[in-house]
Amino acid sequence: MRKQIVAGNWKMNKDYVDSEILVSKLLETHQHSDVDVIIAPPFTNLLAASHTLKSTSIAVAAQNMHFAESGAYTGEISAEMLKSVGVHTVILGHSERRAYFNETDELLAKKVDAALANDMRVIFCFGEELTERKAGKENEVVESQIKNALFHLSETSWSQIVLAYEPVWAIGTGETATPEQAQDMHAFIRKTLENQYSATLADSVSILYGGSVKPANAKEIFSKPDVDGGLIGGAALDAEMFNAIIHSF
Ligand code: PEP
Repeated sequence: MRKQIVAGNWKMNKDYVDSEILVSKLLETHQHSDVDVIIAPPFTNLLAASHTLKSTSIAVAAQNMHFAESGAYTGEISAEMLKSVGVHTVILGHSERRAYFNETDELLAKKVDAALANDMRVIFCFGEELTERKAGKENEVVESQIKNALFHLSETSWSQIVLAYEPVWAIGTGETATPEQAQDMHAFIRKTLENQYSATLADSVSILYGGSVKPANAKEIFSKPDVDGGLIGGAALDAEMFNAIIHSF
């Protein structure tokens, strides 16, 4: 049975104090459920968040990391550093990293390898641009993003991978993919995994949907058979909204 997951990507929001307030509110209002809950605050708040959430059912993730173990990479953070502050999950391949920081599939493959070599769980993001969807190329684009960054992995490595389909046109725009569009793409992704690996593997990988998920639309999106949860941006910055999304399953 694959896991249901709701992950919050805080992006470059919340300073130290505001982050502590949000983590406390999340803890106060969080009720135990079968859903895996993950939050990804900025680097400056990872240590505090992982301390506060230690021994709770909320996990902490980083929003990015470098592929090297250490060295002359000014401004970067390694897997080892993340683990040293209690962080064992990392988001890789977010469309903002791809668009603003030139992260390519090839670079992401190296980051994925570094994360897995450090026993970290990876939330791997991908998704098509609006022009690509309008041209009917969404399946082609998504397939190549997954193939280029992940198909070199062994079947066993996939137990550490969570996929997050995030159509770029739906991120932070208020425009969500319809539940049917999300389901169609998730089913296509699962078929792609089955063709490359096996039906068992395809059935075991959690595939999250991301792109303007809010309490008002989460229930319908999460009700689709191949949607195993969500990667949430804006609505993850509000404890009430985030909890309402968690409880939309
Ligand atoms: C995201 O950035 O991963 C995201 C899904 O953002 P939003 O929910 O704000 O569209």
